[in-house]
Amino acid sequence: MNFEFTKEQLLIKKMVKAFADSKVAPLADGIDEQCNIPRELLAELKKLKIFGIPYDKKYGGAGGSYFEMVLMIEELSKVSAGLGFFMAVHYLGATAINLFGTEEQKKKFLPRLCSGEAIGSFGFTEADTGSDPKAVTCNAKLVDDGYILNGQKRFTTNGSEPGVLVTFAKTETGVSAFAFDKFQEGYSVSKPWEKMGNRGAETVDVYFNDVKLPSDSLLGQEGKGFGILLRGIAIGKLNMSAISLGLGEASLEEAIKYAKQRIVRGKPIATLPTTQALIANALVLNESSRWMLYRATEMASKGLGDIDYESAVTKLYIAKAIKDSIDYSLQVHGCYGYVRDFKVERMYRDIRLMEVIEGASEVQRVIVASNALK
Ligand SMILES: Cc1cc2nc3c(=O)[nH]c(=O)nc-3n(C[C@H](O)[C@H](O)[C@H](O)COP(=O)(O)OP(=O)(O)OC[C@H]3O[C@@H](n4cnc5c(N)ncnc54)[C@H](O)[C@@H]3O)c2cc1C
Repeated sequence: MNFEFTKEQLLIKKMVKAFADSKVAPLADGIDEQCNIPRELLAELKKLKIFGIPYDKKYGGAGGSYFEMVLMIEELSKVSAGLGFFMAVHYLGATAINLFGTEEQKKKFLPRLCSGEAIGSFGFTEADTGSDPKAVTCNAKLVDDGYILNGQKRFTTNGSEPGVLVTFAKTETGVSAFAFDKFQEGYSVSKPWEKMGNRGAETVDVYFNDVKLPSDSLLGQEGKGFGILLRGIAIGKLNMSAISLGLGEASLEEAIKYAKQRIVRGKPIATLPTTQALIANALVLNESSRWMLYRATEMASKGLGDIDYESAVTKLYIAKAIKDSIDYSLQVHGCYGYVRDFKVERMYRDIRLMEVIEGASEVQRVIVASNALK
């Protein structure tokens, strides 16, 4: 076991932190208020070459590992979880193609995804299904030269960004996965949902109206889409946990700063044992979350263990632990933690998503318990 970052990991952490502090921090409140990533910021972000960290250099990637990807999401999310979420969902689509695409599909999609010219998205959820593949109603009909796609997807983050969508639809043999360019004929989106947090990345419904997909849009084998969904989301849960960790760390920093400045009865509240206890509680939850995430990510990077289980147990723990950690940090702020002028208020809203997205915590418990009981 090695508890030190590699040279590459330190480099990416430092580079993304410097970018987040100088370029993202001044815009973070605006990203949250307007629920939009400014295009100028996106252009700057592309220059960092962080859109394809774990993919092979021959497809335009950085040839790194999931570990560097997770560190990047953590650093961005310390400053703006909206931006971290945007990147995490980009990786959800891109990773499905990297893991399951043919050589031709990787050459077709990955270079554009790695440069950030194309933004990735991943559409599984529908109005009547968040986790049950049997309930999928989107339909891809086999025709001579490909498939005709019809139906609607709910809550597709980045579905309104130009780029590539990985989606799931019923075919004759079961649910299949498809990868294709968004905004071709028959593709349209709703207006963005008004979200509680992680505002910045737009989340929309997507409509498919006779979208013509060439045969090479099929990802993996026909009827085997559920396996692609599960593995894609397993990596996705590491990124969701990285957003949580970034939020936990940033909120604790805010709490410590506040505790040293806020004077009550002539003394900073940092001198009160009760405030110190709140800070210690938050810190323990952050530290336990950090090592759980880093361990699972290292295993995923090295292909060790059962990633479906490891990412489920990690997300299950971290989503709740960091929700509690941010709650402690908010408590340190007293009523000021409840108003928009203080960053911890935004973080409290951002973290709530993590217990419901990519499978609610109850679904993670089912995965964890069935692993324990098998
Ligand atoms: C901001 C945001 C962004 C999103 N982005 C995307 C995206 O990019 N792509 C995408 O495909 N989806 C996306 N989603 C959808 C999200 O992943 C699903 O909503 C999520 O998986 C939960 O599905 P559901 O809401 O339909 O919950 P349901 O399946 O309706 O579940 C409701 C509740 O029932 C319980 N429950 C459900 N199933 C079980 C079970 N098996 N065992 C025990 N209890 C259970 C849980 O308590 C759960 O909270 C997004 C959602 C949001 C809010």
